[in-house]
Amino acid sequence: MMSDSKTHSGSCHCGAVAYEVTTGLDGLIECNCSHCYRKGFVLTFVQPDAFKVLKEGPQTQYLFNSHKIHHRFCQTCGVQTFARGESPNGPMIAINVRTLTDVEPFDWTAERVDGRSF
Ligand SMILES: [Zn+2]
Repeated sequence: MMSDSKTHSGSCHCGAVAYEVTTGLDGLIECNCSHCYRKGFVLTFVQPDAFKVLKEGPQTQYLFNSHKIHHRFCQTCGVQTFARGESPNGPMIAINVRTLTDVEPFDWTAERVDGRSF
């Protein structure tokens, strides 16, 4: 239902980190792995060329597992807006859909993914 590709704005809570992403908001997922579940992520994945960082305030990087995904969160408000990682098809960006500022909360549906069992 949200398949028209549009450029959306996103930011952390305090606004130190801001970005733009062009996406149709298809294929959203919620994952129950130890990390996604704790952070309450709703994610969509895009190619790097669909993504632009507008403001990159001080962030802390959190790495775990195979260290393939660079989880960075705002040092001031603690919100993680996006993550850079590698997929079998090359670099990808995971967008935390909950940090898009022009998308109505709950105006989307996300599929539940059993990341805990992977
Ligand atoms: Zn912030």
